[in-house]
Amino acid sequence: MIDLAAVRADTPAAQRGVFLDSAGSSLAPEPVLAEQFAHLRREAEIGGYQAADERAGDFEAGYQVFAELLGCRAEEVAFTESATRSWVTAFQAVPLGKGDRVLVGEVEYASNAIPLLMRAEAVGASVEVVPSDEQGSFSAAALEEMLDERVKLVSVVHVPTNGGVVAEVRRISEAAHRVGALVLLDACQAIGQLDLDTDALDVDLVTATGRKWLRAPRGTGVLVVRDRAAERLRPPVADLRGAEWTAPHSYRLRDDARVHELWEHGAAARLGLIRAARYLLELGPAEVEQAVTARAAHLRAGLAELPGVTVRDLGGRKSGIVTFTVDGLPAAQVRDLLAAQGITVSVSHRPSALLDMTNRSLDTVVRASPHYFVTEEQLDATVAAVAALRRAA
Ligand SMILES: *Cc1c(COP(=O)(O)O)cnc(C)c1O
Repeated sequence: MIDLAAVRADTPAAQRGVFLDSAGSSLAPEPVLAEQFAHLRREAEIGGYQAADERAGDFEAGYQVFAELLGCRAEEVAFTESATRSWVTAFQAVPLGKGDRVLVGEVEYASNAIPLLMRAEAVGASVEVVPSDEQGSFSAAALEEMLDERVKLVSVVHVPTNGGVVAEVRRISEAAHRVGALVLLDACQAIGQLDLDTDALDVDLVTATGRKWLRAPRGTGVLVVRDRAAERLRPPVADLRGAEWTAPHSYRLRDDARVHELWEHGAAARLGLIRAARYLLELGPAEVEQAVTARAAHLRAGLAELPGVTVRDLGGRKSGIVTFTVDGLPAAQVRDLLAAQGITVSVSHRPSALLDMTNRSLDTVVRASPHYFVTEEQLDATVAAVAALRRAA
């Protein structure tokens, strides 16, 4: 069980208002903030290089921390600046040629889809959409029908930006691997709320961000490249972090996932990211998953009972993302009216998950994403506030 009083004490803002946007950019806990402040101070005192040298062991240990969190080896972890940076880095390294096929789900995220379309256009590959099943989840059965040896990559969004559905990743991976396709898992909305195990999910590449459910600083991300996938990747760029310039006309790439890193990064933010992962491990990812899922279910149930309010989450298994619409009130207005009462939610727009939103004839949905530091009373207050908005409308 999560010690609610303790996590709330670490999150002063969670007491001042109702914060329901951990799917957007969460509240960092005090230890994460302290880590960053201390390092920024130290950089100002002795310079960034010496300050980093003092923490060399902690930076190095960070790879093991994420290996533990994500169920992989430390050598398979690389740090980046965002989930998108991780995704693009991994994707650009997957060999793709004319006639090759890339399969995506209906909840594919815009910032994955755009680079995918750009590259497919450039090399003459195709991007095809795997239909969802009747529950609204990526259909492994439909995928199986579509697979052949031209499929080089299957891109799976674990938890989409705009709804509560959780993909059945393992079934998808098993099918994809039968034809030799790589599986790239966008775990951006999963890390920090779901207990992730890369091994069990059997995926080849995993991308994630820091600032969302993980509660890490902005400008941080992580990439996992499994060893078996690494052999098949061709990184399009490397700098002196990922490679060594060995002779005037030669270089040698690193043989671990750090080949995908560039030298420069925000050191304080990176330390904050590592601290956030440790914080999560201390709480227990399974406990966190349970707490988040229970809060989302509670909120969903409350909203579902309100006349004129429609909960929009699909899927059999649901995550911490709760989406809904209110008859007669645009999503942005719901967000703003709730904000005026100290309740923070966000809005998902059609272009961020274009295929899914278009299929469901939705332009916008209100998105509420309660983390473990939100109390049941705060969720009930949110339901009451939405009910009042609806009545006033
Ligand atoms: C937010 C989000 C991303 C992008 O994360 P960044 O850190 O902003 O690059 C990718 N995929 C999904 C599903 C997201 O919700």
